[in-house]
Amino acid sequence: MKKLALHWQIILGMVLGVIFALIMSNFEFGSQLITDWVKPFGTIFINLLKLIAVPLILASLIKGVSDLKDISKLSKMGGRTIGIYIATTVIAVSIGLAVVNIIKPGKSISEETRMELVESYKTDAEGKIADAEKQKNAGPLQALEDLVPSNIFYAASDNGNMLQVIFFAILFGLGLILIPEEKSAPVKQFFDSFNEVILKLIDLIMLAAPFGVFALLAALVVEAPSADLFKALGWYAFCVVLGLLLMMLVYTFLVFIVTKKSPKFFLNGIAPAQLLGFSTSSSAATLPVTMERVEEHLGVDEEVTSFVLPIGATINMDGTSLYQAVAAVFIAQAFGMDLSFGVQLGIIATATLASIGSAAVPGAGMVMLVIVLAQAGIPEAGLALIFAVDRPLDMCRTSVNITGDAAVSMMVAKSINKLGEPKIKNWDDNYPKK
Ligand code: ASP
Repeated sequence: MKKLALHWQIILGMVLGVIFALIMSNFEFGSQLITDWVKPFGTIFINLLKLIAVPLILASLIKGVSDLKDISKLSKMGGRTIGIYIATTVIAVSIGLAVVNIIKPGKSISEETRMELVESYKTDAEGKIADAEKQKNAGPLQALEDLVPSNIFYAASDNGNMLQVIFFAILFGLGLILIPEEKSAPVKQFFDSFNEVILKLIDLIMLAAPFGVFALLAALVVEAPSADLFKALGWYAFCVVLGLLLMMLVYTFLVFIVTKKSPKFFLNGIAPAQLLGFSTSSSAATLPVTMERVEEHLGVDEEVTSFVLPIGATINMDGTSLYQAVAAVFIAQAFGMDLSFGVQLGIIATATLASIGSAAVPGAGMVMLVIVLAQAGIPEAGLALIFAVDRPLDMCRTSVNITGDAAVSMMVAKSINKLGEPKIKNWDDNYPKK
């Protein structure tokens, strides 16, 4: 029997997870059963992915940087990467603003619904505001200060910070370039093999992906809030999703223009990573799979993926920035405010920065949204308005964040002649590879 391609297996897992949860929620014990017996498998799956993220970044980035040999090549690639990342983020925010200003979803919210929503999510919103407050009070150089870890093990731990790990890996890679070849060779060899092992582990973990996403989606469905509130937010969600779809078009267009690779090639290559981003709501957890797909299925040289993708997963969040723009204007509309052109220009700047600062974990975009709201003078309590639909939108924006990283790595690769043929020609292949 021909095996189903991985992305179809994952979609099947999602659909069955939703159906299973819908059926189970008809029984009194159903939700509890899912929480106790199904949800843990979803958590285990995410943990497995996160488990290999740090070793993967370390191994592949150290190897990637030390392979560059000369430092000018590194700065050339670094400059292009950051430049294109910021450009795509600004495009995303602008698309979000255009959509939300044309459709005006917030105008349709009645006073009554607004009060109801604000009341029901008040405590959640207050939590997010408190989190954001901490970040807002930081000094102007805080981000720079945070980049440099004082302890690499702490940085690599659960409370740690992916950017610090990236910083360490780049520094270590630089050190390797600067020492004599005969000394660096064994260390490079070690990280090379280490990297291979991690890639193999990703193959193995992905075998469990359909089951993992089944559990994740089933748990989400039984935890979802009531349908009434969803309806009130339908238009808002529609704007975000429409904006995200337009952004996808922008990526496929850019990839086609710059690399001459067809949308079909690009989307098929990256699909499993998109679906995983959707199920996990975390660019960081998805990173190992994104790297694998971009390298083996889209033909981007490892030198580029190992550098561009870990950085992208942490700072390039086009879906998040687009969502923040839509959400900010939506909340303003719901409160009957008319935002001037100047304020909206300000949103482009703050949403770009806020998305760079968002951690690649579920719900992070919403914490940073508080900063966008505060900057634009929009009531922060409005956060409560969008709580009910945040998780599904988080799933969608995370998919877009990942697609953006993949698109940019193809463009960067093309610009420095590192885009080749995919190692795996048939995108329909199954895991594990032979
Ligand atoms: N969940 C998103 C990500 O990991 C971040 C966010 O928008 O909340 O990419």
